[in-house]
Amino acid sequence: MTNITLITGDITEQKVDAIVNAANSSLLGGGGVDGAIHRRGGPEILEECRALRSSQYGDGLPAGQAVATTAGRLPARWVIHTVGPVFSAAEDRSETLASCYREALRVADELGARTMAFPAISTGVYRWPLADAAYIALSTVRAARMKTVGEARFVLFDQDAYDAFEEALHTLES
Ligand code: ADP
Repeated sequence: MTNITLITGDITEQKVDAIVNAANSSLLGGGGVDGAIHRRGGPEILEECRALRSSQYGDGLPAGQAVATTAGRLPARWVIHTVGPVFSAAEDRSETLASCYREALRVADELGARTMAFPAISTGVYRWPLADAAYIALSTVRAARMKTVGEARFVLFDQDAYDAFEEALHTLES
């Protein structure tokens, strides 16, 4: 079973096999985690993203899907890019958010990754309420049956995010 761990910190500093990026569908960089990953990882990541845009993802990566590139200079082997849904009060996009975690895990398992670091996808610029995003993230990862991935580490950027994830984990475990 995949072991779930929670920490506060910066995802770009994690020594894991695969770091998950909350990318945007252009795959060409953005703010938040995405900006930090490209800044610290160097130009090699963007080069591979551009190559993906000119091959199988001509229209960009759809929300809920995931694709891997090199991790460049980051202390990881791969970055797995996934595009979270923008939160909408009018439309339930939970299934798309769950799909980001499922697809990122599937890609990691295919690569043979043992350890993974996740950010709180969609909780920044895409405005997903933290408590709900945390519950979706953790319940999805708990339900996944992985072959190689032994640790799914959630790297929460601030105390509020950490507290939301901790509470959701308690709810799921009780
Ligand atoms: P999205 O567009 O999916 O909302 P963001 O990058 O704007 O993605 O934010 C997702 C989450 O990642 C937010 O909770 C934000 O605080 C957090 N975050 C931003 N930078 C980092 C970082 N370097 N490491 C870990 N988490 C980060």
